Amino acid sequence: MPGRNFLFVPGPTNVPERILRAMNRAMEDHRSSAFPELATGVLRDLPQVFKTTAGQAFLFPATGTGGWEAALVNTLSPGDRLIAPRYGQFSHLWIDLAQRHGLRVDIIDVEWGEGAPSDRIGEILSQDKQHEIKGILIVHNETATGVTSDVAAVRGAIDAAQHPAMLYVDGVSSIGSIDFRMDEWKVDLAITGSQKGLMLPAGLGIVCASPKALAAREHAKCPRVFFDFGDMIRANATGYFPYTPSIPMLYGLRESLDIMSEEGLDNIFARHHRLAEGVRAAVRAWGLKLCAKAPKWYSDTVSAIMVPEGTNGADVIDVAFRRYNLALGAGLARMAGKLFRIGHLGDLNELMLLGAIAGAEMAMRDVGMQVTPGVGVAAAAEHYRSTAAPLAPRAAAGQSPDAQQQPPGAKPSSPPAPPRAAVRA
Ligand code: PLP
Repeated sequence: MPGRNFLFVPGPTNVPERILRAMNRAMEDHRSSAFPELATGVLRDLPQVFKTTAGQAFLFPATGTGGWEAALVNTLSPGDRLIAPRYGQFSHLWIDLAQRHGLRVDIIDVEWGEGAPSDRIGEILSQDKQHEIKGILIVHNETATGVTSDVAAVRGAIDAAQHPAMLYVDGVSSIGSIDFRMDEWKVDLAITGSQKGLMLPAGLGIVCASPKALAAREHAKCPRVFFDFGDMIRANATGYFPYTPSIPMLYGLRESLDIMSEEGLDNIFARHHRLAEGVRAAVRAWGLKLCAKAPKWYSDTVSAIMVPEGTNGADVIDVAFRRYNLALGAGLARMAGKLFRIGHLGDLNELMLLGAIAGAEMAMRDVGMQVTPGVGVAAAAEHYRSTAAPLAPRAAAGQSPDAQQQPPGAKPSSPPAPPRAAVRA
């Protein structure tokens, strides 16, 4: 199909050209004397994305699922008790992984479309006088439902109960896109993958561990080999890995960290929020609802859009892909067919997103949904136009060619008129 594929699943996300170029290189010896420069630089800078100075970053050639596993097996023993709210497919899968490692998980089932119930978590912890509960598992951004939970509120509940349980947070679809504060929220284990906010291909499972988590390692009895923090700490200390690392991914990560530091984390979060607000304006204009039940749960990285009774969300996704070369996210597990998802994270801008909104709108009409042509695009476009940042004055290089062709000695013409002030209709 001519033209480009519009990739709007909530991960993997678009990989910027700069990262693709950085990754496109010949293999090299990962035991050479030159290698540590790359590895140590990346491991030094990565914690900034988690907003931690106390935490230690671990890079596994894996995915987010590997990060989940590494966080648990390095800090817990079989039979240890955890609590975990379940409000979507990813919180469900993490619980399943914990159970398969012999951990006892008290599941708090929450309606899909809501997030972590910090009050309930606080109550359970207050009742646990013996401090049997060793950890709380929270999925910060439930990618299946487009719900962001309030991790600070969960931390508040843990502290109010004066409970020593560790806080495990899945930030796979939030870290690097939605504000995440590992140190401030006293997160003990924070997990992400490379293929979302970091704008890389899938292939890295990334964990940041607090000093408390690193200390818990000493007594944790869950078997571990590939994901052992101890082996990693020893090898990383000299700038190496305990096994063959993915060298293109490390070069890609180096570039990703540089790109993120150039834009600035807070600007990245603001961009994601603004882009997400445009998508939400489109959803309202279509007369549709998000799976997220209330604005406080709205995710700035993914919108899960409910389709009406009688429409199969999978048909919207299929038509969008086959007819318009647009990849939308599917409804997962109990949400299969009930919704489609627009991922809006990573290397994105307004017009890219308007393309996705237009394609979704066309596909919805193609499958027979009653959507007025253009309303979603118009609503999002107006949001982007009316919230655009002020334009900087044009540089002198933007002068008209006439000005440059004046005869020698002629007085320079007046500078070009300043651009229209910021459009804030
Ligand atoms: N957690 C969340 C919130 C996710 O969105 C995903 C994947 O989309 C995962 C965990 C699992 O990550 P991976 O597919 O990289 O193993």
